[in-house]
Amino acid sequence: MSELPLPPATRRLGLSDIEVSPIAWGMWRLAENGRTVADAAKLVHAALDAGITFLDTADIYGFDGTSGFGDAEALLGEVLAAEPGLRDKMVLATKGGILPPLPYDQSPDYLKKAIDDSLRRLQVDSVDLWQIHRPDILTHPQEVARALDDAVASGKVRTLGVSNFTMFQLPALAKFLDNKLVSTQPEISPLRIDCFENGQLDQAMAFGLTPLAWSPLGGGRLAAPETARDKAVAAALDTVAEAQGVSRTVCAYSWLMAHPAGIIPIIGSQNESRIAEGAEALKVRWTRQDWYAVLVAARGVPLP
Ligand code: NAP
Repeated sequence: MSELPLPPATRRLGLSDIEVSPIAWGMWRLAENGRTVADAAKLVHAALDAGITFLDTADIYGFDGTSGFGDAEALLGEVLAAEPGLRDKMVLATKGGILPPLPYDQSPDYLKKAIDDSLRRLQVDSVDLWQIHRPDILTHPQEVARALDDAVASGKVRTLGVSNFTMFQLPALAKFLDNKLVSTQPEISPLRIDCFENGQLDQAMAFGLTPLAWSPLGGGRLAAPETARDKAVAAALDTVAEAQGVSRTVCAYSWLMAHPAGIIPIIGSQNESRIAEGAEALKVRWTRQDWYAVLVAARGVPLP
């Protein structure tokens, strides 16, 4: 049986000249459980030491429904301030545009302030990727584009991406931007397979966008599946995981990475050894048969 290609050691972020690791680490859950700056630094090092140099955060990470907006960025900012030189070892991505309880605001004045606030909390001069977290349907894309192009022109943001955009919202924004979008960040996992058939990944390939997969383990459900469908997907992954001597979760990351769009899974674990283990995904080989077996388990019905 022919094997699909292994992921490359690094990928280009969209059509930019920024090289990123083919797997990322996310900090949605960083400012939880009373984590200290020293604890957070250990996680950052666990990722970097494993070759996971693409780090994803957002201004809203840390918000618990009433307070905590900006806390995950601020914690990472303290890690970066305490260790000069660390910033240059990572490709740093953040997001903005969700303003609880509004809930979304992408008016130009708000975006400018959101980006400035993120840089201040992160204690950096610029970020490598700034993403709109969720679309604000009440701002015209031309207005959004103006604010984002200004952020690039000012040197505060190197590249631009979107998250949770529809197939129509993405090209509408791209049409008005002077800068090319480099990434799109939908939810993708062996339990969330819409992207594989609804055209979003085809759009990413057509536009030259790098897809970043949020919640690549379905928010952890794949580690402890409960429903019959989730168990069937886990079993299909386990077949390959056992044959290749890796964990089911590593196998799940590698399943996403085998897609030709060059999906970058964002590891959500805040556990040092689980973050480091993620790098094993680079060595897992998939055949078409095994890959489609996972897809069919997730569909719950055979392919046509
Ligand atoms: P995930 O990888 O699907 O889930 C991670 C969760 O699974 C953690 O709570 C982790 O706990 C748990 N888990 C249990 N067993 C695990 C194992 N064996 N290996 C790894 N994790 C295990 O990812 P996620 O945290 O939901 O999301 C990942 C990233 O995607 C976020 O950090 C963020 O950067 C991004 N994201 C973006 C959006 C968006 O709207 N753009 C939305 C959600 C997330 P432990 O920490 O104890 O390991």
